[in-house]
Amino acid sequence: MSDYDVIIIGSGPGGYVAAIRAAQNGLKTACVESRETLGGTCLNIGCIPSKALLHASELYEEVSGGHLKKFGITASASIDHAGLMASKDKSVKGLTDGIAFLFKKNKVDWLKGHASFESKNSIKVGDETHTAKNIVIATGSSVTPLPGAEIDNAKGVIVDSTGALSLAKVPGHLVVIGGGVIGLELGSVWRRLGAKVTVVEYLDQILPGMDGEIRKDSAKLLSKQGMEIRTGTKVTGVKTGKSGATLTLEPAAGGAAETLEADVVLVSIGRRPNTDGLALEKAGLALNPRGQIEVDHYLATNVPGIWAIGDVTPGPMLAHKAEDEGVAVADNIAGRTGYVNHDVIPSVVYTMPEIAGVGLTEEAAKEKGEIKVGRFPFLANSRAKTNQDTDGWVKIIADARTDRVLGVWILNRLAGTLIAEAALAMEMGASSEDIALTCHAHPTHAESLKEAAMAVTGKPIHI
Ligand SMILES: Cc1cc2nc3c(=O)[nH]c(=O)nc-3n(C[C@H](O)[C@H](O)[C@H](O)COP(=O)(O)OP(=O)(O)OC[C@H]3O[C@@H](n4cnc5c(N)ncnc54)[C@H](O)[C@@H]3O)c2cc1C
Repeated sequence: MSDYDVIIIGSGPGGYVAAIRAAQNGLKTACVESRETLGGTCLNIGCIPSKALLHASELYEEVSGGHLKKFGITASASIDHAGLMASKDKSVKGLTDGIAFLFKKNKVDWLKGHASFESKNSIKVGDETHTAKNIVIATGSSVTPLPGAEIDNAKGVIVDSTGALSLAKVPGHLVVIGGGVIGLELGSVWRRLGAKVTVVEYLDQILPGMDGEIRKDSAKLLSKQGMEIRTGTKVTGVKTGKSGATLTLEPAAGGAAETLEADVVLVSIGRRPNTDGLALEKAGLALNPRGQIEVDHYLATNVPGIWAIGDVTPGPMLAHKAEDEGVAVADNIAGRTGYVNHDVIPSVVYTMPEIAGVGLTEEAAKEKGEIKVGRFPFLANSRAKTNQDTDGWVKIIADARTDRVLGVWILNRLAGTLIAEAALAMEMGASSEDIALTCHAHPTHAESLKEAAMAVTGKPIHI
């Protein structure tokens, strides 16, 4: 007889959500977590602490950068570094404790320790073996190392994202290797707090995978804020000295090498799936060439009774993708219908302004067929003008024949919140006309979505 109906390995946003939903579905459920606290990367060392620092540093820059003067307000600010870190830690603790509370409330057993497979329906955690009719692998991902740049978060010279969330002081010069989401967010935090920040990116633009226009315009805005962005440049060596590090850089296309001195180097070149030590072979599971666990539409692996969700599977490494898969897998296990529409997963970069998108990029949409594009700048939005915060735009990409919305991209202070409307519209199969005909409250930034939708047919009102 099985101990459990379902065991979930990993308590990140994929695993903990799957565990709660499985228990809600009446299944006897356990979740294994080797970390001291629940919540995975996202709550402990990812989304939450990074957003806590982004919010605090944004408030600091608003005041210290003199941005309030234009509203007739003068104020001064200083940094209490210990207080800043304590406030971030408080956010993390509140949320991770919250998951422990939800586990108790829903009668999910937390099996503390590292899980490895013994067979396709049993796992070992410490000295104990547990069996289950269904096992969900939700082990997430870890930082991809850069050969030659040994990460030592305790020393604080070459750090990964976890180290960059807890630097002992504001560095004089922070060099970020990798112009992706995490590097730009954490680079923004320390730049706002006073560091000189240089981002070194191998590709010819930052933010790989996003719409070309938003990549270009966000690089311009981040540079204007003082972040030095060096695209088309590769790091060929990082040497630590007595206090900092020396990087060797070369043009990606080839050419003369140069050196760059840094107090702190943040390595953020990507993340890789966590499968080490799981003994997947004992369950009969293999990895794809990218080290991920392949799943079908139901989130089932090729071994009956074993499922996988979140960062350990293909697709964008995002908390909300993992969460939605968590609900879907628990429903599928319970014999209901769980479904995730992977074509409509929004992504947000929490810089200032925020950068958000859902669906196809303009480049990808063009490759698929004829499109119409509507754009609207926040310069023409009454609320953004009133707030004296007019950077950015909305772009709606629609199918030229059916008018169905294929993608939406937003560059704006509130882009992360505004993109939810676009995701809902796309999930409902909306046309750009549906958005244009939907009444939007005035004066709001959201009116720019309506105007961009009107612009698809060439008839926006305010430009
Ligand atoms: C700095 C940073 C900022 C981020 N910001 C955002 C953001 O703003 N928005 C967003 O959507 N995403 C963000 N992400 C990505 C997000 O954190 C991940 O996509 C998300 O956490 C993936 O969830 P998951 O459940 O798949 O795995 P994870 O959250 O990685 O959780 C997996 C858990 O499994 C545990 N585990 C692994 N192996 C075992 C084992 N064998 N036995 C027991 N336990 C095990 C791990 O300890 C871990 O706690 C960020 C990531 C980082 C690093």
